[in-house]
Amino acid sequence: MNSRVILASLIAFQATSYCMEDKSDLTLEDFKPLFLREHITARVTGLGARISNDYVRHDRLTIVAIMKGAFPFAADLMRKIEKVPVVFEYIQTSSYGQNGTEPGKLTIVGLDKLNLEGQHVLLVDDIFDTGETISKVLAQIRAKKPASVRSAVLLLKNKPRSVKEVPEYVAFQIEDQFVIGNGLDYKEKFRELPDIWVKKD
Ligand code: 5GP
Ligand code: MG
Repeated sequence: MNSRVILASLIAFQATSYCMEDKSDLTLEDFKPLFLREHITARVTGLGARISNDYVRHDRLTIVAIMKGAFPFAADLMRKIEKVPVVFEYIQTSSYGQNGTEPGKLTIVGLDKLNLEGQHVLLVDDIFDTGETISKVLAQIRAKKPASVRSAVLLLKNKPRSVKEVPEYVAFQIEDQFVIGNGLDYKEKFRELPDIWVKKD
């Protein structure tokens, strides 16, 4: 058995005992490993090399990462963009809906103060689900007159969606399932996990 799988199972056991007091919440025992660290590193390395080649003739690339979910992916990705200098910026988004308040209402924080005029911008997020987040952020970025704008995500869910524009750079395509780890949370937990886990059926 791969050592990471053994380690992952140990973490699952620990997390299960850790989360015992709130039985209504999901614990790591409700998830199974989907992509292990080595696999993620290999894909992100390949994606970084592709982006590097695509922007090699430009003087710099401005990454705009969507916190908090994109934090580990953006950090890994920018270190694999070796042929063009990177400027790192971040914004934060949150959507109300899970708590039953006004579904689809997206709040974007931190974009106002960014000057992106004339910049080659790469918007980086953790996952493309309905596509509403990226679509709305892209629209606001375009209003700032960048030289170009594209998007990169760690995960893209294969599902029908009304948003037509999909990210140019995708590390993994997955089924329409709930995932955690490597930045992705369940109620602010599990972002620190090095692997990506999927909820068991
Ligand atoms: P979208 O706007 O594309 O529907 O969703 C984007 C955001 O929803 C992501 O940045 C992420 O915060 C959250 N999200 C969507 N699917 C998942 C998932 O499977 N797991 C987790 N942890 N978050 C998700
Ligand atoms: Mg997010």
